[in-house]
Amino acid sequence: MKKISLLGATGSIGTQTLDVIEHHSDQFVLEAMSVGRNIELALKQIHAFKPSLVSVTEEEDAIKLRNEVPVGVKVVSGEEGLIEVAAHTGAEVLVNAVIGSVGLAPTLQAIEAGKTIAIANKETLVTAGHIVTEAAKKHNVSLLPVDSEHSAIFQALNGESLAEVDRLILTASGGSFRDRTRDELRDVTVDEALNHPNWSMGAKITIDSATMMNKGLEVIEAHWLFNVPYDDIDVVLHKESIIHSMVEFVDRSVIAQLGTPDMKVPIQYALTYPNRLPATNSERLNLWEIGSLNFSKLDFERYRCMAFAYEAGRMGGTLPTVLNAANEEAVAAFLDGKISFLEIEHFIEQALERHDKINQPTLEDIKEVDRETRMFIHSLR
Ligand code: NDP
Ligand code: MG
Repeated sequence: MKKISLLGATGSIGTQTLDVIEHHSDQFVLEAMSVGRNIELALKQIHAFKPSLVSVTEEEDAIKLRNEVPVGVKVVSGEEGLIEVAAHTGAEVLVNAVIGSVGLAPTLQAIEAGKTIAIANKETLVTAGHIVTEAAKKHNVSLLPVDSEHSAIFQALNGESLAEVDRLILTASGGSFRDRTRDELRDVTVDEALNHPNWSMGAKITIDSATMMNKGLEVIEAHWLFNVPYDDIDVVLHKESIIHSMVEFVDRSVIAQLGTPDMKVPIQYALTYPNRLPATNSERLNLWEIGSLNFSKLDFERYRCMAFAYEAGRMGGTLPTVLNAANEEAVAAFLDGKISFLEIEHFIEQALERHDKINQPTLEDIKEVDRETRMFIHSLR
């Protein structure tokens, strides 16, 4: 039995991780979990999976939960609670499926505790990629991708030497507004932005897909996970989301990973790696039903967040931290109805322009830049 702790159990990735654990209950057991504020769903999950440790964001929710959980379940709260779940002594694997840079400190603690990390929480790798990957190296810990593109690359690489890799090619569906021009983006609503054509995901990443920042964050995530320079990471628009990404080797052979768009596949692979198990109710891919696969070049003028992400990634230092924090706050403001869709990228651009980059930032520098950037975005809205 593989013992798992799960951050973000109530989210889109979190609930699908629990589906995988339940489907393979002879292989996996949930030891500890964290949620944000969805206490109602958390209680159902606690009764179904019987973890010994649960963390919630607010202490007032923890007080309520303590009266309702079965005897023997410990309930903790706040950032310390997240860290306690991540580093839980009973677990071998941490599935990090929280949203945002709040996942950084727990990930580092889990690495220090020697856990294998299945990482969905890309913001952690964007904001502090050099710190996370160095820590993983030092503690000889594996960082296994959950994001579908990175799982595809990981599978296509199949242990081959990076020296033989010429290029990583990430696919992008184009998100909710892929058929609109820039002019047509001026008055789009939150509901329209939340309507993704291929994937059902949490709100923040669905907006990130519409702005294309999601693919920008994924380019930075790929850089850190696979140690490939930005010049050797390309993105191609592929509206069907059937090819999840590709690796081009030096001999011009390109290996792709395909499948129906279903996050349970990469989640399960991160849990079973290096082996495989039968699917958790995932649909078979029948290519004759899909008919054709389409590809087109990505326009950096149309998707400006892509340009910001490549530039922040290439320049490095604290710029990716600024990119991520500004994006998190701007997307939250858009979801709250406080700013327009195009203001998301305007705000991010301003945050990047005013920032004095710190090279080789420490964890303290990153926390400070993250906090300061969030305050700046608040002052704009
Ligand atoms: P969701 O918004 O659906 O879920 C986020 C989870 O994190 C919930 O359990 C939520 O709790 C919890 N949470 C939110 N804020 C906090 C906080 N401040 N402190 C502690 N817990 C918090 O997100 P997704 O599942 O969509 O995404 C999770 C991560 O996976 C992201 O980094 C995303 O980019 C990545 N990812 C997601 C994919 C997808 O298909 N959804 C695909 C690839 C990557 P609660 O709801 O209880 O408040
Ligand atoms: Mg992805």
